[in-house]
Amino acid sequence: MNKGLLFIISGFSGAGKGTIVEAFLERNLDVKLSISATTRECRECEIEGVHYNYISRESFENMIKNGDMFEYATYVGNYYGTPKSFVMKELEKGNDVILEIEMQGALQVKEMYDDAIMIFVVPPHAKDLKDRLLNRGTEGIDIINNRLKRSYEETELMLNYDYLLVNDQLDDAIKSLEGIRCAEKIKYKRFLYLKDKFKEELKEIID
Ligand code: 5GP
Repeated sequence: MNKGLLFIISGFSGAGKGTIVEAFLERNLDVKLSISATTRECRECEIEGVHYNYISRESFENMIKNGDMFEYATYVGNYYGTPKSFVMKELEKGNDVILEIEMQGALQVKEMYDDAIMIFVVPPHAKDLKDRLLNRGTEGIDIINNRLKRSYEETELMLNYDYLLVNDQLDDAIKSLEGIRCAEKIKYKRFLYLKDKFKEELKEIID
């Protein structure tokens, strides 16, 4: 059996990647989402164990020390990381897995897992980022500015991604993501064994 596919979804803060991933998962129930650990505070609209596992800095640093993190990064003053065991288990079972993570972590994953499929989400215009962060109302203006500064720096690393998803119409973005998944599934490199199979079968039917 082929291993599952590992999708990494990153994007500027406020680009709407969480909304895309949530809607995609509702329509693609066989895909598994990795729940990250973070040291940032739980927002009022979030649920422990659904959006993140909210842990202390000490617990996070222990996980790093024990090698329990697949990847991790600091983002605007907090740790964020992907627990290793869930991702590995699901990929081995043949399930596709999504990591919704920022760029530093995404690049760490690509370095050790070259097969990862890298997708970057942007809004149609940079101005949309500030509008969405302000409308969301979950962060104060200082943190919003730090997030926008981080996005500015991240533009340099966008070229490391395989696909760019412009989040204009949600439904189109989900369809694009489904299209990426379909195309990735039938890439020839995942079916190299078929070459020998066809060779054998053709030998048998040639007179
Ligand atoms: P937020 O605080 O808005 O939920 O997330 C801030 C940033 O951290 C987002 O870009 C989000 O994708 C990223 N992030 C969430 N979980 C992880 C993780 O496990 N690892 C890394 N490297 N980034 C993450």
